[in-house]
Amino acid sequence: PLPLDVEAIRADFPILSRTVRDGKRLVYLDSGATSQKPRSVLDAERDFYENHNAAPHRGAHQLAEEATGLYEAARAKIAEFIGAAVEEVVFTRNTTDAVNTVAYALSNAATAKEPSFRRYAVGQGDEIVVTEMEHHANLVPWQQLCERTGATLRWLGLTDDGRLDLSDLATVVNERTKLVAVTQQSNILGTINPLEPIVARAREVGALVLVDGAQSVPHQPVDVTALGADFLVFSGHKMLGPTGVGVLWGRYEVLDALPPFLTGGSMIEVVRMEGSTFMPPPQRFEAGVPMTAQVVGLGAAVDYLQALGMDTVLAHEEALTAYALEQLQAIPGVTVIGPPDTVARGGAVSFTVEGIHPHDVGQVLDDLGIAVRVGHHCAWPVVRRYGVPATTRATFYVHTGYDDVDALVEGVRAAQRFFGVTPEEATA
Ligand code: PMP
Repeated sequence: PLPLDVEAIRADFPILSRTVRDGKRLVYLDSGATSQKPRSVLDAERDFYENHNAAPHRGAHQLAEEATGLYEAARAKIAEFIGAAVEEVVFTRNTTDAVNTVAYALSNAATAKEPSFRRYAVGQGDEIVVTEMEHHANLVPWQQLCERTGATLRWLGLTDDGRLDLSDLATVVNERTKLVAVTQQSNILGTINPLEPIVARAREVGALVLVDGAQSVPHQPVDVTALGADFLVFSGHKMLGPTGVGVLWGRYEVLDALPPFLTGGSMIEVVRMEGSTFMPPPQRFEAGVPMTAQVVGLGAAVDYLQALGMDTVLAHEEALTAYALEQLQAIPGVTVIGPPDTVARGGAVSFTVEGIHPHDVGQVLDDLGIAVRVGHHCAWPVVRRYGVPATTRATFYVHTGYDDVDALVEGVRAAQRFFGVTPEEATA
């Protein structure tokens, strides 16, 4: 049996009781793109709007106080979830927004009026290091930072079996490196990266480290103290929470030395016509009225995950991944892109089916009520690296059961039959 009680959990997710494509059970294998939401998250958002709605940190009336209390209580909950101090948790729109906040802070630092904001400035001659398996959200903002500042982008490559190639770590990360941006878990390959040697090397040369936790924080225990990085970014919508809220965690002394990205209301200390000064973190990075209901919803999502236990969530997905890898790799013509076993590997299983375009595989699966992702998964360099036009990707979460994986495997076989690519022909 699986570590989680899948039937009981499914009952918590209203959307899982609907049918798709003429009465078929929804087999949702696209949590990596965005997760479905349990009733407690939907209720928390509704309760906020029905009973407490006001702009937090503004106004002296009772609703404003309640909204502030709920907003800050959610911040405390999320801080505890990742082992951080409360003032190190900045709310953003999503992972993309969080990465851009850091990237713009680093380029704004060069021209900051306050000398204390110039410490991490990136400029000509500096280097930023990423990896070849980054989601575009943790790649394009760094390319753009380099274009703005004259810095150079370098990257760590991949091995044939979908892991980071760290053989040139000591030269790629060097005295010129200002920041290393690396994903903890690949959204396309499923690889869980060894961050210790990367963080250790970055420390040796005095570089900052940003960890993309968009695919790790929802699926495994993550503790920022153990991580040893300077930033951790993730999205609420991938961890059972609402869209429109993400998190930028930053080591306090680093956040405190960075200038803001977006400026405006509620991030200022004193404003005069001649110029303004800014609040300390996290407020410095939260300009404007925040996404309060979404933050409250994310707090409820964290409660839900904590009640299940992140160790159990991880064990659940490991069991599903092992089963899916075994079943899919047993189909002639199916090739898994990424680590072939479950060693340091999370629940994102990307594959190709010989003789059938991934979009056609996705279409046949969709007709059967199975939702998967097809395409380059916003990690174009990865599909290019493995010489495929695109992949079909299944991702798992707390409501996923062996029946979902069975449906996927049957669906792939159905696609082979439909396109006349019998397994025998495919291997011939
Ligand atoms: N990084 C990774 C590894 C992801 O999987 C994603 C979402 N697919 C992102 C970053 C970007 O997240 P968002 O679109 O929520 O900003």
